[in-house]
Amino acid sequence: MGTVSPQVDPAEILKPGPSQRAALASHVWPQSARLAGGSLSVGGIDVADLVAEHGTPSFIVDESHFRARARLFVESFRSAFSAVGADVDVYYAGKSFLSVAVAKWADEEGLRIDTCTAGEMAVAERAGIAGENMGLHGNNKSEAEIVRAIRGSVGRIVADSLVEIEQIAQLAEAEGRTAASPVPVMVRVTTGIHAGGHEFISTAREDQKFGLSLAGGQALEGMELVLKFPQLRLLGAHAHIGSQIQDSTAFELNARKMLELRKSLEEKTGYVMPELDLGGGYGIAYVPEDQPIDVPSLAQSLAQTMAAVATELNTSVPRISIEPGRSIAGPTTVTLYTVGTIKNVTTDEGIVRTYVSVDGGMSDNIRPALYGAVYTARLANREGSEEAVLARIVGKHCESGDIVINDLALPADVQRGDIIAVAATGAYGRSMASNYNNLLKPPVIAVKDGASRVIVRRETEDDLLALDLG
Ligand SMILES: *Cc1c(COP(=O)(O)O)cnc(C)c1O
Repeated sequence: MGTVSPQVDPAEILKPGPSQRAALASHVWPQSARLAGGSLSVGGIDVADLVAEHGTPSFIVDESHFRARARLFVESFRSAFSAVGADVDVYYAGKSFLSVAVAKWADEEGLRIDTCTAGEMAVAERAGIAGENMGLHGNNKSEAEIVRAIRGSVGRIVADSLVEIEQIAQLAEAEGRTAASPVPVMVRVTTGIHAGGHEFISTAREDQKFGLSLAGGQALEGMELVLKFPQLRLLGAHAHIGSQIQDSTAFELNARKMLELRKSLEEKTGYVMPELDLGGGYGIAYVPEDQPIDVPSLAQSLAQTMAAVATELNTSVPRISIEPGRSIAGPTTVTLYTVGTIKNVTTDEGIVRTYVSVDGGMSDNIRPALYGAVYTARLANREGSEEAVLARIVGKHCESGDIVINDLALPADVQRGDIIAVAATGAYGRSMASNYNNLLKPPVIAVKDGASRVIVRRETEDDLLALDLG
């Protein structure tokens, strides 16, 4: 998910001198990341020790940082919205990275879990997440997924189309649900606001697969349809406007439209929806130049905006839910790779570029190939020479587009066997991993207070071949 961070000018990369030796940019690296004599540690463990124990490529997640990010959302939003008389639920968007351990961390920090497939529900169920603390959304849920959500008594099913509302109603009835035990349903709305990276657009036209159009009137129609079924309870409207959003304006505009929609339904039917879900999309820093969303100040400005709009509309601010994914998981994790082949290539412009190959690539991080996402990295096992080269970190797959980082200053003496750490890979890395070229998916290792624990083990050849029936 998400869009591109601002592109870095390759000519600028080497200019400020050996950026490799600079201090860690704290907004990009995990909270516990430290440098000692040029070697990196996370969670109090030196990366050389992590690699000796767990191998590469590996995802290393700073558990305390993950928990702190989760708490930051809960505390910031609860305190900002309690000032305007509204409660908040935070759903962790499981698609960014979900495992049993991570679901438990989120649960222990007071978050709910947002899922969009049976597989994500299965992980949350295995983690012991109570049904009421789970949500299910998605534009093409299977009947089995809807039934599973109903049987599991999930906190809400986010309906994505008129047909699906009818389908949920039918299945709810078949499962014996009545007005006395209604299934909580939200209606996914497209408000015309689309955002990602620094920019957003606001348009009345909707040309995408999610939700029901606000401008076209289908959103209101969907809500009225839910109200017709006694076995459903219309919990509210839901709008997720994009990903990696770095500006609060789009969130505020979206919140305004949602309050207006709630008011329209009230005027038309007398029904006041108890909740609005504002989705996720909070941007993080992938490279030092990126400005992450400041969660407490965004929560403040959203609460203030909503209170003002509510007054204007002569209504109140309802219960709010949000669904951050990337902003919780992303910054907490680094990927460790081992350097293999190194090649110097002279470009058409006469620039010497050092291709540094690592033992993973697009199978553990598809985002650069998928949408030109940028990352930063460093030599992690030693300081390296003061002199830097213009490097390109590439994977080991049979695609020339298998690039992890396009342009990066690395010490000129980078060599085979060195460890490279790539920052901010916690979201949409392992969760989008593939077995391309039959590479084995990397493990996820949680680190905390000087101890490491495998929370998702490395795939084995037996795992791969277990699916191959010959
Ligand atoms: C992807 C998604 C999210 C999470 O987005 P992030 O950018 O990771 O915060 C939340 N809600 C819905 C409906 C989504 O599709």
